[in-house]
Amino acid sequence: MQPVQRRQSRQVRVGGIALGGGAPVVVQSMTNTDTVDVEATVRQVADLARAGSELVRITVNSPEAAAAVAPIRERLDALGCGVPLVGDFHYNGHKLLTRYPDCAQALAKYRINPGNVGRGAKRDDQFATMIEAALRWAKPVRIGVNWGSLDPELLAQMMDDNARRPQPLEADEVMREALIASALGSAEQARKLGLAAERIVISCKVSGVQDLIRVYRELARRCDYALHLGLTEAGMGSKGIVASAASMGVLLQEGIGDTIRISLTPEPGGDRTREVVVAQELLQTMGLRSFTPMVAACPGCGRTTSTTFQSLAESIQGWLRDSMPEWKQRYPGVEDMKVAVMGCVVNGPGESKHADIGISLPGSGELPVAPVYVDGEKTVTLKGERIAEEFQALVQDYVERNFIPGAARKRPRQIRIKAA
Ligand code: SF4
Repeated sequence: MQPVQRRQSRQVRVGGIALGGGAPVVVQSMTNTDTVDVEATVRQVADLARAGSELVRITVNSPEAAAAVAPIRERLDALGCGVPLVGDFHYNGHKLLTRYPDCAQALAKYRINPGNVGRGAKRDDQFATMIEAALRWAKPVRIGVNWGSLDPELLAQMMDDNARRPQPLEADEVMREALIASALGSAEQARKLGLAAERIVISCKVSGVQDLIRVYRELARRCDYALHLGLTEAGMGSKGIVASAASMGVLLQEGIGDTIRISLTPEPGGDRTREVVVAQELLQTMGLRSFTPMVAACPGCGRTTSTTFQSLAESIQGWLRDSMPEWKQRYPGVEDMKVAVMGCVVNGPGESKHADIGISLPGSGELPVAPVYVDGEKTVTLKGERIAEEFQALVQDYVERNFIPGAARKRPRQIRIKAA
C-alpha cells in the first residue's frame, strides 16, 4: 500500500505528545462534564484516555472551573493517568489564566477562540494577555476558529470589502476566507507577541463537509502550522460519524491534519468514549495508524441462519479492544492483527484466509461446523455450543505465539488465487 504523503508542518509538543512535523496523527477528545465537578471530570478524562485519547480538552469557563483544574491534574497523576489536559477558553480566558496560575500551569495547552476573546479595543489586549500566559508557562496554544463564533467585526469588514469588489464573491466564500483570515491573523499576532510557530496549532471548524475540505486545503496551502482537524457540530449517531469520516477522510488522504477530534453528540446516557473509538477506526481503516486488531465481518444475508456470527463478531471486537491496554505492553505489534468472522461458506473461507486468524460460521443448508483458518491454513473445525469461547481461546493463543517480544514476526499474508 502506498503510504500517504503527509503535509510538512511544524512540530508542537503538548505535554509528552508530538503533534505535527511528521508525527503520527494524534487522537483527541473533550469531556462533557462540569469541570467544577472534579470527581466526574477525573473519571471521564481517565475513561477517554483509557479508550485511547492522547489529549483531553476540558472546559474552563468560570473561576470555579479554573480552580478545579490543578486538583483534576493531581488526581489524574495519582491514578497514573498522564494524559495532557487542554483548557478550552472563551470570553474570560484572559482573566482566568492570569488569576489562576495553578490552572495555567497544570494545563498542557490552551485553546483560544479568536471570535470569543473580546470586542473592539479590548480584543487585542485580552488576546495578548492569553498569549503572555502561554509564554510565561511555556505552553502551546490552539487558535481554534469556529464558524458558529466567527469574529463578527472581521466578518462584517470582509463582507463590506467584498461588496465593493467589481465582481463580489459568494457569501459562503467570504465566510470561508474570514475563518482562515481570523486564524492566520491571530497566529500572526501571537507570533508578534513572541510565541514561536512551534507553539501554535490552528483549527477552522465548520459543520459542512465540503466547506471543511475547502477551508483546510486552503489553510494547508497558506501556512505550515500544525493543524487540528475536526468537523464541528457533526451530529448524532451515524450522521455524525459519516460526515466526520467523509470530510476528514478526504483531508487525511491528502496528508492534511496532525490531530483529529470527532465531535459526536452523545445519545442521552451514551458513552463519551465513542468519539475516541471512531477517531481511531477512521485512522486505522485508512491505514494511517493502528490501535487495536480489526475484525472483518460480513453483513449477513439470507444465507445466515442465526445471529450467532453477528454476536461473535461483536463480542470478539469488544474483547480485542478491552484487551488492548494490557496487550499493548505485552504483545508489541498486536494492533496490526486481522481477524475475520464470517457468516457462511460463500466468502467465509476466502476472507478468513486473508486474515491472520478467521472463522467461517455455517450458513443455511451447511453442516453445523465452523472451520478456523490461521495464517491462511485451515487448522481446526469448531462445532457445538461453545464456538465463541473456543474461537476466542484460539485468538488468544495466536497472540501469545506471534506477538511476544522477540518472537519471529508472523509471515506476511499470502493472497491465494484459485485456479479457474
Ligand atoms: S459471507 Fe455468506 S452470510 Fe456473509 S454476506 Fe456473504 S453470502 Fe451472506
